[in-house]
Amino acid sequence: MTIPFLDLRAAYVELRTEIDAAVRRVLDSGWYLFGPELEAFEAEFAAYCGAGHCVAVGSGIDALALTLRAQGVGPGDEVIVPANTFIASWLAVSASGAVPVPVEPDERTCNLDPARIEAAVTPRTKAVMPVHLYGQPADMSAVWEAADRHGLAVLEDAAQAQGARYHGRRVGSGRAPAAFSFYPGKNLGAMGDAGAVVTSDAALADRVRLLRNYGSRVKYEHEVKGTNSRLDDIQAAVLRVKLSRLDEWNARRAAVAARYLAGLADVDGLALPYTEPWAETSWHLFVVRTDRREVLRTALTDAGIGTLIHYPVPAHLSGAYAELAYPRGAFPLSERLSEEVLSLPNGPHMTDGAVDEVIASVRKALSALSARPRERRTAAPAG
Ligand SMILES: *Cc1c(COP(=O)(O)O)cnc(C)c1O
Repeated sequence: MTIPFLDLRAAYVELRTEIDAAVRRVLDSGWYLFGPELEAFEAEFAAYCGAGHCVAVGSGIDALALTLRAQGVGPGDEVIVPANTFIASWLAVSASGAVPVPVEPDERTCNLDPARIEAAVTPRTKAVMPVHLYGQPADMSAVWEAADRHGLAVLEDAAQAQGARYHGRRVGSGRAPAAFSFYPGKNLGAMGDAGAVVTSDAALADRVRLLRNYGSRVKYEHEVKGTNSRLDDIQAAVLRVKLSRLDEWNARRAAVAARYLAGLADVDGLALPYTEPWAETSWHLFVVRTDRREVLRTALTDAGIGTLIHYPVPAHLSGAYAELAYPRGAFPLSERLSEEVLSLPNGPHMTDGAVDEVIASVRKALSALSARPRERRTAAPAG
């Protein structure tokens, strides 16, 4: 690939001196779990999000699942989730013992449509889990309106939204706990697996702390059936270095997105991402839509441009959820998105030249396509 989808190595190269020093500091300290780096990262990330507490865990899915458990969600409960999301959102609900109940997205933002929550509520519904998909915050006031009407807990899946803002306020600073993933490809990424939940609720943070460490506060005293999901100090030290660059890197992603939006505005048959006026997205992904996706993707691949599909199979049609027996057509909006979305390269290390090359390749591929049916039409009367 001449233009990779995301250049993770470039992030390391930019910060090599600081990251190497941070890792060496942990190695030299001999303190590898629950050490000073973890404590410092938790404090710094909580402060960054504008939340009172941060509990770091082993992955994003664990942050979601353990927080659901801490919210009292378990077997016999239902949790309302977006039909259009990464399957990890659903799997986290399943890991808590509850059943995911999907609702269709808002067509413009691709995020969960809060107007559809009401119809999905049953006597078993315990919580609703909006996802800030592609980095754009979901419409939280509308989610809360429905949640409050039915006494539901709310958990934000903010895995893609580190640094995003909702009505000017940082994701994670709201009423609901917000779970983050620090998977390497996320806006704030570790060099391995990592995750965290931030919350203003001290009791909730305490319960997640218990759950991540075998249900134990004091060695060999186990209050609840917890698990082992810890963020080690090496990853915490790396995350501290990268957190200091998050705003700058998100701004660079936003600049790439702005260049795409300007350069692709007038392309026939291509729908560009829509951002609500009150949302400041983290631009984790720049997702376009076209009904000619496979041709576009092949043309970009041939031009050496990396693309990805987020996501090609909706969770309700995946083998993992065969037990729920949703037929094809059960969630037509999500199914159509899975056939039309294409994520273009975006990252803090992408140059303007590379963005322009992608724009030119997209324009060329789609104009060649729209030219073809015209040729056929003009040829037909003659033949
Ligand atoms: C990445 C992601 C997760 C899972 O995070 P992991 O760290 O990979 O476990 C959950 N939800 C969404 C929306 C994600 O993008």
